[in-house]
Amino acid sequence: MMMHEIELKARAKINLALDVLSRREDGYHNVRMVMQTVDLYDYITIRKTKSPGIKLKSDYKWLPEDERNIAYKAAKLMFDSYSIDEGILINIHKKIPVAAGLAGGSADAAAVLVGLNKLFDLKKTKKELMDLGYQLGADVPFCILRGTALAEGIGEKLTQLPSMPFCYVVIAKPLFSVSTAYVYQNLDLNNLSYHPDIEEVIKGIQMGDLEHIAKNLGNVLETVTIKEHPEINDIKKKMIEFGALGALMSGSGPSVFGLYKDKKEAQAAYTELKLHSQVKDVFIATIFNRER
Ligand code: ATP
Repeated sequence: MMMHEIELKARAKINLALDVLSRREDGYHNVRMVMQTVDLYDYITIRKTKSPGIKLKSDYKWLPEDERNIAYKAAKLMFDSYSIDEGILINIHKKIPVAAGLAGGSADAAAVLVGLNKLFDLKKTKKELMDLGYQLGADVPFCILRGTALAEGIGEKLTQLPSMPFCYVVIAKPLFSVSTAYVYQNLDLNNLSYHPDIEEVIKGIQMGDLEHIAKNLGNVLETVTIKEHPEINDIKKKMIEFGALGALMSGSGPSVFGLYKDKKEAQAAYTELKLHSQVKDVFIATIFNRER
C-alpha cells in the first residue's frame, strides 16, 4: 500500500564527553566526543500533498518555516538528490530546546531524511542517508545513527559503541542561550588546563558501569560558557545534590544534564530545578539505545 503520511520522533543528543583537539584552517575544530541519544524528542509528521513542493509548519513561533529551517533544507536535499517532484507538508512539534547544545535542529533534519526515504520508498541505506546528512551539519549523521557513539573529525566520523547502561537523564535549559560559533571562537585551545579522559568514558560504556561513566564526564567547552554564566555550575551542583551520579553541560551549552539511576531521585531533581530562578525548561528523559 502506498504510504501517505509518516510520523517520526526526532531525538536529542547529549555529550558524555567533549574534547577539542585543534582548530582547522577552515575555522572548524577537530573534536573527540562521546555522543548519546536521549528520548527527549520533537514530534514530526510528513504528509504528501496534492500541490508539489515543500511546505513546513512548526508550533514554535521563533523558528523559520522556509529554507532557513534545517528540516526544510533536509527535504530540499532529498528532493534534489533523488529527483522527487511531489508535494509534502512537514509539521514540527518542537519540544527540544533551541540553540541549547542538544542538536535539536540536526535531529529534525535527520528525521526528515529518514522519513522521506520511507515515505517515497527510496530504499536508500542508512550509510547513504548519513553521507547526505553530513552536507547539512556535522551532527546530522549521528542523529541518523543514534544510540552511543564516538565522534571524531569535526563530529562526522562515527564509531558505534556498545549501548550505554539505562538511566534517567534530567535536562535543564537555563534562561539564556549561547551560539555554538561564539563558544568555539572563544575557546582558548592553547591554555586548556583540563581535557576529559575520553578513554575512561568509553571503558565505562564497555563495562556497562554507569558510575564509571558518570565519574568521568567532561566537556572542555564548559571553560568558555561557565566563565560567562556561572549559573551553569549552580545547576550542576543542584543536580548532584539531588542524587545525580554525574552532571555536565551538553555540547556548546547551555543545557545541563544529570544522570540518575533512581527514578525518584530524578523526579526530585526535576521538581527542584523547575523552581530554580535560572532555569527555563526541565525534562526527565532516559537513555535511548539503538534499535536492534
Ligand atoms: P548543536 O548541539 O548541534 O550545537 P544546538 O542544539 O545548539 O545544536 P539547534 O537547536 O540545533 O542548536 O539550532 C541552532 C540554530 O538553528 C537556531 O538558531 C535555529 O534558529 C536554527 N534552526 C533552523 N532549523 C531549526 C530546527 N528545525 N530546529 C531548531 N533550530 C533550527
